[in-house]
Amino acid sequence: MQMDKFIELKNVTFSYITEYDDETVKTTALKSISLEINRGEFVAVLGHNGSGKSTLAKLLNAINLPESGKVYINGMDTTDDNNLFDIRKTVGMVFQNPDNQIVATVVEEDVAFALENIGVEPHEIRRRVDEALKTVGMYEYREHAPHKLSGGQKQRIAIAGVLAMKSECIVLDEPTAMLDPIGRREIMATITELNKMGVTIVLITHYMDEAAKAKRVIVVDSGEIIMDDTPKKVFSQVEKLKSIGLDVPQVTELTHELIKEGIPLADDIIDEDECYEALYKLLK
Ligand code: ADP
Ligand code: MG
Repeated sequence: MQMDKFIELKNVTFSYITEYDDETVKTTALKSISLEINRGEFVAVLGHNGSGKSTLAKLLNAINLPESGKVYINGMDTTDDNNLFDIRKTVGMVFQNPDNQIVATVVEEDVAFALENIGVEPHEIRRRVDEALKTVGMYEYREHAPHKLSGGQKQRIAIAGVLAMKSECIVLDEPTAMLDPIGRREIMATITELNKMGVTIVLITHYMDEAAKAKRVIVVDSGEIIMDDTPKKVFSQVEKLKSIGLDVPQVTELTHELIKEGIPLADDIIDEDECYEALYKLLK
């Protein structure tokens, strides 16, 4: 894995200005945030509603531009118009609502849509669409109507669209929020697989078990980054997370309750297999 600075935010502040009839309201959503993400990382972003997660996501592909400070994507300044095309190609976005992201009536056309818009050769489009659909496990559905697919399948089509653009990074803003448990599992498996292939992943989620699968967890609160560490280190701070309205994975909650009762368990258990092993050892 190349460990170069791939995404860099330097003292970034961002505010929304809303004009009402008789007043103008300024909401500062991010307050002087600095952050570096290396190529190939898998980062989860946590924070309760309104903490600034979506604002942050949109800064990463120049939908939002910083009010002050700088955002660099692969060295490209997002405020420079000349970089816009390359930045949008480098960082693909997947949003929460699968229905809002579908533009065509046939799956393969949907995946090809952006490629056609930028004038990629038909042969190359065919190749990239097939490859992207195979990667997300949706190749057999290439001639289906996207509207008839499940939420999880639609989100995989959206991810395929990003892959077909050869984006090196995918930012997913609560991609599983509207999915059932099967869809959630499909998306997490796809994301994990893409990261293994070298795609940089920024996953915004409010599911703690999903964040536990990342290699790094960033916690945002009131527009500031208040934690940035491995999932184990972040989730072992149960009280701090609860104080800002976040939960921890269920198995972490369970082990922390047991520890309080004097049962000797590690305080950094974040996944189910780990919890099972620890309890099994204890009960044997
Ligand atoms: P999150 O994704 O963590 O829920 P957001 O980034 O959407 O948080 O929002 C951060 C803050 O900015 C919130 O206070 C929210 O109300 C405000 N905000 C978000 N979008 C807009 C907008 N389009 N206009 C005005 N305020 C907004
Ligand atoms: Mg949001």
